[in-house]
Amino acid sequence: SQRIKIKALLQTEPAGQEVNVKGWVRTFRNNQFIALNDGSTNSNIQIVVDFQNTDEALLKRITTGAALSVTGTLVASLGKGQAVDIKATTIEVLGDSDPEKYPLQPKKHSLEFLREIAHLRFRTNTFGAIFRVRNSLSFAVHTFFQERGFVYLHTPVITASDAEGAGEAFKVTNLDLNNPPRTESGEIDFKQDFFGRATNLTVSGQLEGELGAMALSDIYTFGPTFRAENSNTTRHLAEFWMIEPEMAFYDLADNMDLAEALLKYVISYALEHNREDIEFLTQRLTEEDKSKPQQERQEMTLLEKLQFCLDNDFERLTYTQAIDILKDSTPNKKKKFQYLIEGWGADLQSEHERYLVEKHFKKPVILTDYPKEIKSFYMRQNDDGKTVAAMDILFPGIGEIVGGSQREERLERLEQRMDEMGIPKDELWWYLDTRRFGGCPHAGFGLGFERLVLFVTGMGNIRDVIPFPRFPKNAEF
Ligand code: ATP
Ligand code: MG
Ligand code: MG
Ligand code: MG
Repeated sequence: SQRIKIKALLQTEPAGQEVNVKGWVRTFRNNQFIALNDGSTNSNIQIVVDFQNTDEALLKRITTGAALSVTGTLVASLGKGQAVDIKATTIEVLGDSDPEKYPLQPKKHSLEFLREIAHLRFRTNTFGAIFRVRNSLSFAVHTFFQERGFVYLHTPVITASDAEGAGEAFKVTNLDLNNPPRTESGEIDFKQDFFGRATNLTVSGQLEGELGAMALSDIYTFGPTFRAENSNTTRHLAEFWMIEPEMAFYDLADNMDLAEALLKYVISYALEHNREDIEFLTQRLTEEDKSKPQQERQEMTLLEKLQFCLDNDFERLTYTQAIDILKDSTPNKKKKFQYLIEGWGADLQSEHERYLVEKHFKKPVILTDYPKEIKSFYMRQNDDGKTVAAMDILFPGIGEIVGGSQREERLERLEQRMDEMGIPKDELWWYLDTRRFGGCPHAGFGLGFERLVLFVTGMGNIRDVIPFPRFPKNAEF
């Protein structure tokens, strides 16, 4: 009989039909039932073994972690947990697993331990749930844009520009750096590189995305992004995925509306398609919470938090209004925020962002119109001469999840800003051409995909929501 995934099987009426499942043994405790899992759901299928007619040598090989193929009849369950069991007629061991050496025991492991065996953590309920949610979210991102007629434009991974000039780009070269060709003045001669120049891994697909939007109207890119920044935080990775839409004829308000609609759409998609996984993660967090002191416990469960996010408009205010709130706030009894001293003009730290979201408004917040000094050269300058049409979306427990803006479409203003900031205009001649020939109002944003997965799964560390995390001193496989 043909293999059936366990998720589908658990929704089938048991009527004595013959079925086949394949998966990995979670437990075979007291040699009673085999709990088998194939990753399609956190629920295991129970295999009832006929001991009398099963070879002893075979029984010995049914150990935690072993891969099995089981054929049998689907019957009403003897246990409480679920509706169906399989009464095995044939069990075949496809791959043995030495129980003495298998690192995953049938018990709860700490996330730190699981990070050390990241190659096997997919086999736990927690990571099974996380990566199924991640999968759904990425699918929903495409559905959202495709339904709205956006074109998925693949921007390059290897680029020549370090868009923001932040010096965070990983260099790419095929030169032998142990013995590189040198120019007369002794510098590495990148003219002899494969591309005939220095290149790096993309830090953002935005500038290329703008080229697409200036012809196709609405585009998005969704791919890996690389930053050689200090990623020793719970919110930064050296390799992360970013969703970057870019829309012609959009202003800042249109941009905010689209970002809010996207976030709500993908969260509600996950709630609908991954209910079981999100309930599992909610349960996990609630248990974790019980061991914490009262004041550190969550006010809402994960499920409530997600639903709340869908049911409420995001709060929209300007950077200046936010500073006024922060000035008057006392985050804890001892100190007020530094802004009393520093005042208007400084970038917000994540503690300020989280104060606004978690303590003051208690919901997602969109901050707009930041001081131009702390934002990128391509953001559209406001008439006050001090601020730009930027927007950041801040989420509870996360801080910044989206960064975006209306773009500066006026060539003169753009060039003047590039000069002020020391951005080389000759290198970005192709970018400036979009303003020379039919430049028009447009806007876009970047949504950090892992920060979104963090929010929806309720996890606390970004390294736990990407299958193969890249961070300083870590690139095992
Ligand atoms: P942050 O202030 O948190 O460092 P940023 O302002 O440097 O973020 P942007 O350049 O605005 O980031 O990038 C757009 C989005 O990409 C951010 O809002 C965030 O969601 C995500 N992001 C940025 N850097 C990282 C990173 N190192 N790891 C994971 N996600 C990131
Ligand atoms: Mg940053
Ligand atoms: Mg930021
Ligand atoms: Mg940002």
